[in-house]
Amino acid sequence: MEFSIELHCFAENLKTMSLRFNAIKNLATNEAARVERSEKITTVFGSNVFTLQTAREFLSDEAYKSLLSSTKSSQKIERAVANQIAIGMRAWAESKGVTHFTHWFQPLTGTTAEKHDSFFTLKSDGTAIEQFEGDALVQQEPDASSFPSGGLRATFEARGYTAWDPSSPPFIMEIGNGKTLCIPTIFVSYTGHSLDFKAPLLKATEALNKAAVDVCNYFDKNVNRVTVTLGWEQEYFVVDEAMFNARPDLVMTGRTVYGHSSAKNQQLEDHYFGSIPERSYAYMRDFETEAYKLGIPLRTRHNEVAPSQFECAPIFEEVSLAVDHNSLLMDVMDRVARRHNLRVLLHEKPFAGINGSGKHNNWSMATDTGINLLAPGKTPKTNLMFLTFFVNTIKAVHDYADILRASIASAPNDHRLGANEAPPAIISVFIGQYLSKVLQDVKERVSDKMDETDESMLKIDIHRSIPELLMDNTDRNRTSPFAFTGNKFEFRAVGSTANCANPMTVLNTIMADTLKQFKKEVDGLIEKGEKKEIAIMHVIRQYIVDSEKVLFEGDGYSQAWEKEAEKRGLPNVKTTPLALDAMVTDKAKNLFESNNIYSHSELEARHEIELEKYIKKVQIESRIMGELATSHILPAAIRYQTLLANNIAGLKEAGLNESAYNNQKQILEKISEHINKASDMVEKMIDARKKCNVLTDTREKAIAYQSTVKDAFFDQVRYHVDKLELLVDDKEWYLPKYRELLFLR
Ligand code: ADP
Ligand code: MG
Repeated sequence: MEFSIELHCFAENLKTMSLRFNAIKNLATNEAARVERSEKITTVFGSNVFTLQTAREFLSDEAYKSLLSSTKSSQKIERAVANQIAIGMRAWAESKGVTHFTHWFQPLTGTTAEKHDSFFTLKSDGTAIEQFEGDALVQQEPDASSFPSGGLRATFEARGYTAWDPSSPPFIMEIGNGKTLCIPTIFVSYTGHSLDFKAPLLKATEALNKAAVDVCNYFDKNVNRVTVTLGWEQEYFVVDEAMFNARPDLVMTGRTVYGHSSAKNQQLEDHYFGSIPERSYAYMRDFETEAYKLGIPLRTRHNEVAPSQFECAPIFEEVSLAVDHNSLLMDVMDRVARRHNLRVLLHEKPFAGINGSGKHNNWSMATDTGINLLAPGKTPKTNLMFLTFFVNTIKAVHDYADILRASIASAPNDHRLGANEAPPAIISVFIGQYLSKVLQDVKERVSDKMDETDESMLKIDIHRSIPELLMDNTDRNRTSPFAFTGNKFEFRAVGSTANCANPMTVLNTIMADTLKQFKKEVDGLIEKGEKKEIAIMHVIRQYIVDSEKVLFEGDGYSQAWEKEAEKRGLPNVKTTPLALDAMVTDKAKNLFESNNIYSHSELEARHEIELEKYIKKVQIESRIMGELATSHILPAAIRYQTLLANNIAGLKEAGLNESAYNNQKQILEKISEHINKASDMVEKMIDARKKCNVLTDTREKAIAYQSTVKDAFFDQVRYHVDKLELLVDDKEWYLPKYRELLFLR
């Protein structure tokens, strides 16, 4: 009797001790937070942004004009004018209760960085004043020696500076009651090397502008500027904060390294576009409001396929602003989630066995005459312009597929690419049946010798078939990593935590380079006396022939496609360390150097940084797997093992024969096997890590981590741990289970 009371207390203790059971208990009382939003979106939209309209109000004519021209053409701002702008900006910020300012930038760590300084300062006689001068606006020197530089800044010269990027407007970040004026900046070393995501993006966008304007001028002399447009779609998961806190793996790595699939998964497909759960809904409305104040034009919200997975998307914007807005939003989403006792998981693969999260990058180009270069035109001339940019994109992706693949490579994205509902690591382009036929027609009907019949091709009426075209491209193929969706390409292989700047820098660069080559070839033919339109048509035809093997309309998730892609000679690099090789080939170095995006040493530095990030992430995951197995899982399994062993011994002692405890014995055998295997493997995994850590070459080390730690152990250790989860008494199990993380709200 006494014994059973003791046992009962033990169980009760366990329950109160366990974060898991506390989390489950508290869920019942966790109501959806109240979010008041009665105003129309337009009344708050951009209220925390120093827009040109605000600038008009707070700046002198001279300062305003100067700001306007530097926003449009990145012209340098004179020091005296910078002072005036700074004074106006401070006046605006103070009118909104701001006390501090910061240069806001996007270092290669993958998060955003800020260091706050107050407007408050003391004059030499000790008088306290508030000030913000032009110098502080234009340039700052953060102590940035601990940001990754890939060896670009030797330690004796660990200096980099942030420089104001007037193309992106300053904004006020509200955290609790604190308000900070954030100045978007680029981050460069004193030697002129870029140390962030933003500087190369601006260069690549400019390169594409030049190349695209040149090509546009074949069709329309009035085009003076081509901007790149980006509309990202951000996928994410939401989990209860107490559940999150009870999962050390989520806290440390953003994903669950263990967890058996729950009985119900996403197989019923009842979550996609279903009604949004109330707590998540309140959270969304709250972060949307914060986003609107910051001028982020969010438009869409909906459930995704997996349980507790959602997506939001803004109206597209000029690429550099869109990149800033995505980085900002990821930050805002994280902060606002905590207000709701929720956590947002931006990781590419937080849960095994269900969909991961991506960040589709919808990309196009627009002229200053208001034409979307990837929208089929209404007349033969605009049709040809569309066809030119369309085919050049395909050619660029074909020629530089390896570099594009490298631009989305990361440890977390490796878990996603090729897994549930995610594009494979093979870069292919989907264009839909209708445009496939158009390209086929061009290929067949434009002859090698150029003659008048070729002109008939110019009359293909793409526009008339637009409804057909849109049907063709919006609804179908979700399995392609790079799909044409009616009036833009959608790069879907980008990971949900990624900074869009990197893939956009690469895409803009390869497009610029391809268009430059295109122009050279067309001009060559024109010089030989060919008519302009015919010359263009012939180069287009050549490009279709050269790059058609990258086109794929079928199921990108299928095994058959892997085989087919191999036959076609398309690269299929599945792991990050090897995918990153493409950043430092002679081909890549020539590409980036000749377009003034990266010098050789900048590319090598970035390569090194990406490898190091990979190593650290795999290392941390491996450590947390070991720790959890040793301190959470095995103790629970062993307790249950002991209970079973005692039970069998007791029955035996009582003189019962084997049939009475046969089942217990079988369970005990299974548990013992999984305990031993898991524990052995964890030991071996630690040894493998030790071997990796003595390697000095970063690439070798990354490959070793990938093959001898991650590939050799992660799935195997997990297999045994997940089996134990099913076998061990539920109340002994401290880690919230998938059903609790994904279905309890
Ligand atoms: P879906 O791809 O889910 O069907 P939409 O086609 O509406 O959704 O658009 C997805 C994203 O593509 C949105 O962010 C939208 O603003 C963006 N988008 C639409 N047109 C363009 C364009 N010309 N350039 C860049 N992005 C665009
Ligand atoms: Mg889309």
